[in-house]
Amino acid sequence: MNFAFTDERRLFAESVRRFALDRLEKDALARAHDPRFPFAVATLMSQQGLLGITLPEADGGQGGSLIDAVIAIEQVASVCPRSADVVQSGSFGAVRTFAEYATREQKARWLPDLLAGRTVMSLAMTEPDAGSAATELKTAARPDGSHYIINGTKVFATFSSDAAIFLVYVRFGPGVSGIGSVLVERDTPGFTIGAPSSFMSGEEWCELHFDNCRIPAANVLLGPGGFKKQMAGFNVERIGNSARALALGRYAFDKARDYALTREQFGRPICEFQGLQWKFADMAIKLESAQLLLYRAASNADRGLPSAYEAALAKAACNQAGFEAAHEAVQAMGALGYSRETLVEYCMRRCRGWMIAGGSLEILKNRIAEHIFDRRFDQRKPHADAAE
Ligand SMILES: Cc1cc2nc3c(=O)[nH]c(=O)nc-3n(C[C@H](O)[C@H](O)[C@H](O)COP(=O)(O)OP(=O)(O)OC[C@H]3O[C@@H](n4cnc5c(N)ncnc54)[C@H](O)[C@@H]3O)c2cc1C
Repeated sequence: MNFAFTDERRLFAESVRRFALDRLEKDALARAHDPRFPFAVATLMSQQGLLGITLPEADGGQGGSLIDAVIAIEQVASVCPRSADVVQSGSFGAVRTFAEYATREQKARWLPDLLAGRTVMSLAMTEPDAGSAATELKTAARPDGSHYIINGTKVFATFSSDAAIFLVYVRFGPGVSGIGSVLVERDTPGFTIGAPSSFMSGEEWCELHFDNCRIPAANVLLGPGGFKKQMAGFNVERIGNSARALALGRYAFDKARDYALTREQFGRPICEFQGLQWKFADMAIKLESAQLLLYRAASNADRGLPSAYEAALAKAACNQAGFEAAHEAVQAMGALGYSRETLVEYCMRRCRGWMIAGGSLEILKNRIAEHIFDRRFDQRKPHADAAE
């Protein structure tokens, strides 16, 4: 086992950091408080080869590994936390699932703009009555000749204010085996995007309404039976989510450490108080151990798709470590940490959301328990007749 980066990876990390310092540092604070997707950053990242890191070169990607993309998130976030979302959207999120399963025609149609940073894709899975119980989704796709008619409502989709294309989980028929996904363009008749609402992080989401929205059959990404494949793609999203949580926790930790070294109270730097030293030691233990789980899940990923168990362990550990580190960093910096003059409070708010998004901590722990006991624990209420 080797915990050191290869020379190639070290050079890659250094080049991403230099890029971030040159191009992203200046507006990092303003960017974090802008709810809109930073398309200008996406364009710069495309030119730098930081979009499509995990996508094959044949598809216009960089042909890199999941670990490379994790390194890119870490380096970008250490300078501009908000810009890490662009790495996520270009290498981990809906675009990664799309690239895994799309037809050649679908890729030719949508990938060039996505990988140039001109457009962004949003993943629409959650519904008003289907959150953690994602397989209870009701949004229906009904065949109509060479088209499908989509009806239903989606909520909480990240980038929904700005996305040009939506990867929408739909139901072609009953049960889990009836679930698949379709691609819906923003201006499709029958597709309405509601007014933006805000998360605690400041990010926006819009209600998405499909009202007899007619899409060509060529826009089906995965037909009935596609749910398992979608979740395999979604485990990549979970790695990106873990990497951002950890990176933002570390960003806050670093700022608080610098503050503790220089801020003086009672005539001495506050890092000399044991009450603070132990806080920092606890933060370091959590961040470093979560990082090992993250790297293991990313480097064990088979053809770039991590195992559900390792992704769940990594996400649960990184979400908790990131939030706890950012939360303690706010405390260690006093009123300055709580103020919008620094990005420490932003990191705390963002990390809080990842404990809910993309599989809440509780749902991840359910998944981990299934691995431990090698049994599936159905969360659904037993039917009355089955209980008798
Ligand atoms: C920042 C952010 C970004 C998001 N981005 C997207 C996106 O891009 N696309 C998208 O489709 N959705 C997105 N979501 C929605 C997200 O996927 C859901 O919030 C998540 O699946 C939880 O669903 P819910 O909010 O309806 O909570 P609920 O499912 O109502 O759960 C409420 C609470 O009950 C717990 N709970 C539920 N079931 C169980 C169980 N069986 N065992 C133990 N505890 C349980 C949950 O963990 C949670 O604490 C985002 C959410 C956030 C916060």
